[in-house]
Amino acid sequence: MSLSPSGWLLPAGHLPASARRPRVVALGGDGIGSEVVSAALSCLEALDAPIDVVTPPHGPETRARLGTPFPDALREELDRADAILFGAVDTGPEGSADILRYIRFSLDTYANIRPATSVPHVPARTGGGATDLVIVRELTEGMYPGREGDLSELARLAPGLEDHLGYRLPGEGAFALRVVTEAASRRIARYARALASQRKANGVGRGRVTIVTKENVLRRSDGLFRAICEQELAADPALDIDHVYVDEAARRMVACPEQFDVVVTTNLFGDVLSDVSSEVMGGMPMAPSAGVGERVAYFEACHGSAPDIAGRGVANPAATLLSAAMMLTYLGRDDLGERLAAAVTDALAAGNKTPDLGGRASTDEVARAVRSRL
Ligand code: ATP
Repeated sequence: MSLSPSGWLLPAGHLPASARRPRVVALGGDGIGSEVVSAALSCLEALDAPIDVVTPPHGPETRARLGTPFPDALREELDRADAILFGAVDTGPEGSADILRYIRFSLDTYANIRPATSVPHVPARTGGGATDLVIVRELTEGMYPGREGDLSELARLAPGLEDHLGYRLPGEGAFALRVVTEAASRRIARYARALASQRKANGVGRGRVTIVTKENVLRRSDGLFRAICEQELAADPALDIDHVYVDEAARRMVACPEQFDVVVTTNLFGDVLSDVSSEVMGGMPMAPSAGVGERVAYFEACHGSAPDIAGRGVANPAATLLSAAMMLTYLGRDDLGERLAAAVTDALAAGNKTPDLGGRASTDEVARAVRSRL
């Protein structure tokens, strides 16, 4: 099995025909983010990718200079971008989380695409055989962006609220609001349908879409999500549709991930399941992702800012390199995306591995090994 970014996401439908080069904003973010983004930019340069890359100031040093990690000039760059290559975010108060929130919620990048494909010479830490699955996670609603409050407020607003058993709210505590709308469910289901069809046509997937919910408990919200997904997916009779509860989906992701092709789910479930499925690729430092909207998309590794190894030059750049390969595919250069992904696989096969994969190579050494294969 080879890593194939063209099986992982749909190309952008809205980009202008070759009149201008796509504009890419590259942001390291926090911790190891700048190290892995630098590695990816060096490979994009070696590929001679026909994109214009801008690297606006942001993050901790901008906070020290301007009092904010997210200056207006950065917002303007993000608004003009065709694609964004992102490093990592430290979700603490000093981190760049506001930038990622803007990209996700204000730029409406609603489809979070998280592939998990077996990598030659990198053993999976899950059961099952060769796997090539993609999680399509709704990224704008569900439990995010954290609408929470005190139970006393909720009791005042909704005095008659009862659970399935007829019990009222406890007097004290906190609540979190989970939102599912028909519109958001419909557009994520459409993305999953188109991706499954494309994968089947390309001979990558089997044309199966698995809807994951907890509808047996969340009857209204997940009931709506499932019903809309089933309706949208039924529009392509060539697809094989099934539904699995999230707890069973998590077990299968570990035991037999090869059973999945495209998985479509809500925000929190997709977040958790994709961390589990990254073990197919040998762990989070290998797992790429994209957040795709109608107008722009961003590309980032699934891992976080890894403060424990930041600055030591040992971060595995593979997830960011593969995210950059997804970006090239999204921008219509699947030939370059496939080349970059193949160079990453070859470099790993030749033993260029960082310590998380049991090797001794540095971030720069892995990047150099990838560049030499481009
Ligand atoms: P967050 O809350 O932002 O997800 P986290 O600390 O929970 O952060 P990560 O930052 O992903 O999660 O780190 C989890 C572990 O994985 C850490 O031990 C970290 O060193 C390791 N790790 C993450 N990314 C990489 C990478 N690219 N290369 C090597 N190790 C990594």
